[in-house]
Amino acid sequence: MRPPKSVKIGGVRYRVRQVNKIVHNGRAYAGEIDYRGTVIRLERAHMARSNAAMGTLLHEVFHGVAEDRGLNIPERQIGQLARGFQEVVVNNGWTLRFGKGA
Ligand SMILES: [Zn+2]
Repeated sequence: MRPPKSVKIGGVRYRVRQVNKIVHNGRAYAGEIDYRGTVIRLERAHMARSNAAMGTLLHEVFHGVAEDRGLNIPERQIGQLARGFQEVVVNNGWTLRFGKGA
């Protein structure tokens, strides 16, 4: 999947960057969102698998929406929301297209 160049969430535009590795405290992650730096980072190797890539991007977007809306949603629930939304997209044949604003 070729991710969008940016994602606007609420009033904040997050740049989307592909990076080689995301590691915190010795643990590897497929993606992360940096609220202060307004950037979503996605692990490059992960982007080759399109379902996983969309899931990771959606996961970070859900974090961004929660932040924008002032919701304190635990990590596990963010994961469930993102996976559930991805299932709705896939099971209904929807296509996520990254438009001009991206
Ligand atoms: Zn997360």
